[in-house]
Amino acid sequence: MGEALVVSDREEFITTKGRQKQPIKCDADSIAGCVSQRACVYCGARVVLNPITDAAHLVHGPIGCASYTWDIRGSLSSGSELYRNAFSTDLQEEDVIFGGGKKLTAAIDELVGKYQPKLIFVYSTCIVGVIGDDLNAICKAAALKHEIEVIPVQSSGFIGNKSAGYRAACDAILQLLQPTGIKKANSINYLGDYNLAGEAWIIESYLREMGIELNVVFTGDSSSEKLKTATQASLNIMQCAGSTNYLAGKMEELYHIPYIRVSFLGLQDTADSLRQIAAALGNEEAARKAEILIARESARIQPVIDKYRRKFAGKKAAVYVGGGFKAISLIKQFRELGMEVVMIGTQTGRKEEYETINSLVADGTVILDDANPAELERFMTKQGANLLVGGVKERPLAYKLGIAFIDHNHDRKHPLSGYVGAVNFAREVYSTLCSPVWNYLPDHDRGDVV
Ligand code: SF4
Repeated sequence: MGEALVVSDREEFITTKGRQKQPIKCDADSIAGCVSQRACVYCGARVVLNPITDAAHLVHGPIGCASYTWDIRGSLSSGSELYRNAFSTDLQEEDVIFGGGKKLTAAIDELVGKYQPKLIFVYSTCIVGVIGDDLNAICKAAALKHEIEVIPVQSSGFIGNKSAGYRAACDAILQLLQPTGIKKANSINYLGDYNLAGEAWIIESYLREMGIELNVVFTGDSSSEKLKTATQASLNIMQCAGSTNYLAGKMEELYHIPYIRVSFLGLQDTADSLRQIAAALGNEEAARKAEILIARESARIQPVIDKYRRKFAGKKAAVYVGGGFKAISLIKQFRELGMEVVMIGTQTGRKEEYETINSLVADGTVILDDANPAELERFMTKQGANLLVGGVKERPLAYKLGIAFIDHNHDRKHPLSGYVGAVNFAREVYSTLCSPVWNYLPDHDRGDVV
């Protein structure tokens, strides 16, 4: 692998299935000097908390941090739209010298006066970590003064990698949860779904059909009041494990709510997950209804998938996404579409997830953790990928290389979960992979346009 690397320190983070015996290195901070595709700690915290619809999100820092994550998610709300705003203390040079505490207090007062939020999250950014404003004390004083929840999020960008931001967000959420003494049977919380393009509502409709109540989603379309009732659920299911694994573990420890991992990406994972939920609840009636749902939806969807599958013969996919569990689902989903994944990586995947990835992909597949753009370019080209699945930061890279692209991240406007999502995904693969635009490439061989 050495000859293919741009930075030698990165060698342990990249492996080729079948050629190397040692496990991939992961779950570590980025190598200094590498421009990693990872987002910062603050961004990790913001993406978890932002979909809480009635919260005000106040970024204590320079204006650039707030604009970095402003309205980046396609999370939908059935109620308040307050979460769509980004508020910032807009720290300037003199605040860096004299401290930004007074400015933060004034910003909270102004927010309360104008919007009357029940809940304010105050995010720490790099500069606040450096100058040392006492976020905890300021938030506590503001909460007492206004009699609302003002929760500090310790997310200075430099204190670790994006995973540290997930944990900071989970710690903030844990402050909201309250034991009510009530436990509802067949009631579940859905962790790690951010209701992008209404995905949580799709899963809710499946669960309703099975006779299961969706109690609270963390955090898609949730509110401060809903989150407080989360302790009443009898089971937690977790889609994005990278962002909510810590929260699920804490809820099991503190409130005795067991959890299972699920994935609603692709036909196989959706069916498996519905069965697992019924089994975890010990609900035979739900299991019976799940089979009816799975049979009906599979019969409806499979012919559509098969139609697209015929267009994709011989095409190769590359995947670079945030978490390992999504990467695993995408390998299976591309298999359903008749495509091989030839390069796969994540920003925050964990050891056990990389082991599963390694067991699923074919020999010769390049697997890489915390990649940088130079590596992605090098390996996509070397592996002959026709398509990249990634997020907003990977889109320009794919297009500049003349490679089709699918956004599987925050700012998309169509659902990719469940049976509806499986069709959307196949349709999107087709529309980008088989677009006539590729006919204008000098060496095009992608035309399969009908
Ligand atoms: S918190 Fe730090 S790394 Fe993150 S956007 Fe702000 S300045 Fe950049």
